[in-house]
Amino acid sequence: MSNSNDSKEFGTINSAPLLDVGRGNAPLKAEIMELFSEIYDSGWFVGGPQVKQLEQSVAQAAGAKYAVGCASGSDALLVALMALDIKAGDRVICPSFTFFATASAISRLGADPVFVDIDPVTFNLDPEQVKLAITPKTKAIIPVHLFGQCAEMDPIMELAKRYNLRVVEDCAQSIGATYNRRGSGGIGDVGCFSFYPTKNLGGMGDGGIMTTNDPDIADRLRLFANHGMKPRYYHQVIGINSRLDAMQAAVLNVKMKHMQQYGSDRQQNAGNYLRLMTRYGIQNMVAAPGIENEGHVWNQYTIRITDGKRDEVRQLLADRNIGSEIYYPIPLHQQECFKGLGYAKGSLPHTEAAAAEVLSLPIFPELTFAEQQYVVQSLADIVSQQHKVRRAA
Ligand SMILES: *Cc1c(COP(=O)(O)O)cnc(C)c1O
Repeated sequence: MSNSNDSKEFGTINSAPLLDVGRGNAPLKAEIMELFSEIYDSGWFVGGPQVKQLEQSVAQAAGAKYAVGCASGSDALLVALMALDIKAGDRVICPSFTFFATASAISRLGADPVFVDIDPVTFNLDPEQVKLAITPKTKAIIPVHLFGQCAEMDPIMELAKRYNLRVVEDCAQSIGATYNRRGSGGIGDVGCFSFYPTKNLGGMGDGGIMTTNDPDIADRLRLFANHGMKPRYYHQVIGINSRLDAMQAAVLNVKMKHMQQYGSDRQQNAGNYLRLMTRYGIQNMVAAPGIENEGHVWNQYTIRITDGKRDEVRQLLADRNIGSEIYYPIPLHQQECFKGLGYAKGSLPHTEAAAAEVLSLPIFPELTFAEQQYVVQSLADIVSQQHKVRRAA
């Protein structure tokens, strides 16, 4: 399905979007509309058989026994921490180089995020730094499998066992990813997935799911995602309203059947980038970690531009109609809302360097080889122009 435009003249390509959800959705339209029509007629809009089916297939993909649908990846993290009894005064270790929701879930329960630095090669939590951050108040760790590559789970699980900590995997970007052949979301106490449209399994709106291997945790996830209500109108605990809609689940069930293909197309695109960058001689300027890692599902293809010109390169790419994005420009420990936690500039050096250098390029499954050539050729042009300017100065 992807790379079907390989034969297209490279000279005719003059743009490459960061993401074009239309290309993936178009061929599924009739099948999805049929399901929408069925749901329309059924009158069952929240939960129901489509949600149940999705819970089963995501649990299977994660290598987990149970899955519980919810309204978003952000809610998945919040409900997971509620179900694990994280509360005011507790500390939860997480990366600072991640999306905001990883840490806001902690703060919303009155607990404190403890930001830990990353491994500069994988962009994921550094287990050595995790170890140094553990105190008697620490209750949990949230490793984030950033850009589709799993964090170093073995040492993290070992620390959790030794210090009796809970582990919540942030799998928002890692559905289908594996670590030593185990699925992301099936290793820690709870796995939290997002179906936001930019994710590898993207819906048509917000959605999320939580996975676990523990039946008691599964019950608590369901309880907290449904107002802490069991039976109906009897509230054992204070939960929230976070459920998955039937329409969303229907879209996701249709897409789930193509997950293997989407994953191998992303993997192929990552390989193409590496080869093209080598051919254009810019592999030393840019580095995308994890190319050797079979379990990487490439939610993003993230390079580093280490000479301080990242923002300029991004603008010059935009001038050539090439989409790119900075995930993430401001580390969480430097966000206004977390000032009170007292992290000084320079306290997480690898995180701060990454935030200044990273740039994510288009890698969605339907991206064509010709578009990738255009991206890399443009990048090579931009980089060599900058070299000339610098030599002249
Ligand atoms: C997208 C994302 C989330 C939040 O998911 P939503 O469904 O958008 O709420 C959490 N963590 C990470 C790392 C993400 O990329």
